[in-house]
Amino acid sequence: MIKVAKFGGSSVANAEQFRKVKAIIEKDKSRRFVVSSACGKESNEDHKVTDLLFLCEAHIRFGVSCDPIFDQIVAKYTRIKNDLGLEMDLDSEFDKIRSVLKRGMSTDYLVSRGEYLTSKLLAEYLGFDFADAAEVIAFRYDGSVDMDRTRQLIEDRIGKKGLVIPGFYGSLPNGVIRVMSRGGSDITGAIVANVVGADIYENWTDVSGFMVADPRIVKKPISIPCINYSELREMSYMGANVLHDDVIFPVKSRNIPINVRNTNDPDNPGTLIMADCTEQDRINPPHCITGITGRKDFTVITITKMHTSTEVGFLRRILSIFEDYRVSIESVPSTVDTFSVIAATKEVENCLYDIVGRIREELKPDDLRIEDHLAMIAVVGRAMKNQPGMSGRLLSEFGSNEINIKVISQSCDELCIVVGVDNRNFEKAINCIYDRFIAEEKESN
Ligand code: ASP
Repeated sequence: MIKVAKFGGSSVANAEQFRKVKAIIEKDKSRRFVVSSACGKESNEDHKVTDLLFLCEAHIRFGVSCDPIFDQIVAKYTRIKNDLGLEMDLDSEFDKIRSVLKRGMSTDYLVSRGEYLTSKLLAEYLGFDFADAAEVIAFRYDGSVDMDRTRQLIEDRIGKKGLVIPGFYGSLPNGVIRVMSRGGSDITGAIVANVVGADIYENWTDVSGFMVADPRIVKKPISIPCINYSELREMSYMGANVLHDDVIFPVKSRNIPINVRNTNDPDNPGTLIMADCTEQDRINPPHCITGITGRKDFTVITITKMHTSTEVGFLRRILSIFEDYRVSIESVPSTVDTFSVIAATKEVENCLYDIVGRIREELKPDDLRIEDHLAMIAVVGRAMKNQPGMSGRLLSEFGSNEINIKVISQSCDELCIVVGVDNRNFEKAINCIYDRFIAEEKESN
């Protein structure tokens, strides 16, 4: 059994968190590969090391001294090192970084130092080997990861001890450091899981997996024991942000389950994310709804023109106007002669009147209406498939709670029903669905 354990910033925020990480690693000898983020916030007033490094870069760019910020970073690592009695030569590490702190420096190099230093300290503390991600995570020049080369490089570093690899960065073929998008250590963990052929990819964070609904909206929601990749994509896309959106791709091809766990509650089994949950469902039948998520602030542009239902290319012409302004479209619900185009308000607000002008000019609609303040709620669940009456029950719930539905859509795979309501009803709607489909079902079991 091989496990890759990735620890997020909150799991390595200070010496106390390092101790928890060590206890987790020592509890299970199959946790041979560790990927670490940079130290996160110790408290609400604190800052993530990566944010501080980006701030240093911005100061340098504007010719302002970044010393006070850099000193905060030095102090944080020095505290961890001293509290844990480690020997790593932090002074020379920081001298090296300081020597490149000048205009024109590589931002990627600077902002990757959080992961580098955290992982190096963690490796010493765990008694594991350290492999710099610049030496083992191989990017191509187009930004994609060269998995074969990465596999080779990591295999060459496997020794008797476990291995700690920093998340978030790697290097281009010419050796220049390149970072991933923010939150990218999740992706490094998934890449390592792929190349070492892990049986499971554990992603340790500060929540016990995915909740059925956002705990800021629903009081004490239950957690999701098992979710499949497609459900996860729907949930993350619509706003449930526990993992980086791209984490699935490296593990999907090798069918490696991801287990989201809580460093502060290590006995909690967390959420298991799998290509197919059928096995798990047999033991533990899922609720008909896996999760409820959503986002506020969409704009709807509704275009009506008689007899367009038979006109070939009408919809394409509408959509190509949005494409010209590089607006990504959320959904296009339609009836006979009416099409609504829904996009996030922040995507369209700067070009809305240009788009509307072009639609009027090129498509000559009979009517065109714009509505803002739409919230989209996604009800996701693999168990909804082939369940007659599911959407009926859902919609009647909105009706009995006097929530007006503006848009409804469901794809043919029946994995997700999306309902559009006024922003004002967003929280109420999520709570109603939760109470009716999760809380009541739980009580009756
Ligand atoms: N430290 C990086 C960030 O804050 C990457 C990560 O933590 O995943 O975005």
